[in-house]
Amino acid sequence: MRNKLFIRALALLFFSLFIFADGFAQSQLQRVSNTARSDGMGYVIRYHLSAPVDSFEITQPAPDLIQMVLYDQEIDTTGLILPKQSEKLKEVRLYELEYGYGVDIYLTEGATYKSNAYIDRNGKDILVSLTQSTKEELAQYTQQFLTRNWYKEIVDDDALDVSAPPFQTNILYNNVRDKLRFDKIVIDPGHGGWDPGSIGYKGVKEKNITLEVAKKLGAYIEEHLPDVEVVYTREDDTYLGLAELGHFANLAEADLYVSIHCNSFHNQYVSGAEVYFLGLSKSNASLEVMKRENSVFKEEINQELTEDDLLIYELAHSGYIATSEKIAYMIEDQFRTRAQRKSRGVKQAPFQVLFEAAMPAVLVELGFITNPAEQRFLTSEYGQNIMASALFRAIRDYKVEYEEKQAYNVSSN
Ligand SMILES: [Zn+2]
Repeated sequence: MRNKLFIRALALLFFSLFIFADGFAQSQLQRVSNTARSDGMGYVIRYHLSAPVDSFEITQPAPDLIQMVLYDQEIDTTGLILPKQSEKLKEVRLYELEYGYGVDIYLTEGATYKSNAYIDRNGKDILVSLTQSTKEELAQYTQQFLTRNWYKEIVDDDALDVSAPPFQTNILYNNVRDKLRFDKIVIDPGHGGWDPGSIGYKGVKEKNITLEVAKKLGAYIEEHLPDVEVVYTREDDTYLGLAELGHFANLAEADLYVSIHCNSFHNQYVSGAEVYFLGLSKSNASLEVMKRENSVFKEEINQELTEDDLLIYELAHSGYIATSEKIAYMIEDQFRTRAQRKSRGVKQAPFQVLFEAAMPAVLVELGFITNPAEQRFLTSEYGQNIMASALFRAIRDYKVEYEEKQAYNVSSN
């Protein structure tokens, strides 16, 4: 009996010693080197480590940018030697994060290597293989990854900061409303009720994301721009018909109508945010989006917008269109720079919902919920906050500019 206990205690001691040793083995990263592969098919980048790291991750958001995370809080990089700039490798940069290191590996522009990473046979080093690929294959491969901004994780999240002063722009626009203040906005969370909108990766529904982002946007406006009244087309999971939507928006006599949506595509690699304003469709791609976003209204109107409809609208509301275009560009700029999203640009399309609103109006596609990475981002609290604050900043900047311009007009009259 006594013996058995002793053996058990001994086993426990060994076991805990093992855990202890493993848990505290500090890995020293001494060097990152770069050599040509013996098969002539590319290159190998080696992280020379004294002990294995907990885990790692590799992505390649652009043909010339490989990003890695080394997960391990105990990595020592004192005296680290990085590879010199070579024909294929431009630069390796490390960023110390809370949970390890973020690494950017910049390849020479025009390089067409596909990256992959694995543990060396010695069980410690991490090897990154760069394999010669084609431009087309690489374009397809890199589309699925979003660029990570390590600074965002190092510094306090700047992208969420909605109190930072607005940037100043000096673009002229048409004043379309005979009023001095920008003080009412209609926020339209796309779809709702029996209409789920697009169905994305893991069955996520567009209508739920649009409602969440709409509420967050509204909350930012109410908090930071108390003189602006926020009107929602829906605040819960209900469906509003087109007639109701248009009626609602116009009754509100708002200064801006923002319709929030998410995109979908049969190819899960496609990603990025888009901003639309009403106009004659200029590309097949925006025509596809327009068809999908309009499809739900088809039964109600029996007809699609014709070129004539749009020409008449443009004649009557050219000021709205100019203002919408300007705001669309300000939103796109926020998505791309501050929110760090892949941007698919500002586009024009004949959206019914925009057509019905007799006021400046934009429609945003936050991203593709059929893309796993964007689905994760857009269903996360963090991602929704980022997108809502990007929208908020664009609207706030526009309001500031609008009111300054109005004040100028008054004082110069
Ligand atoms: Zn939609």
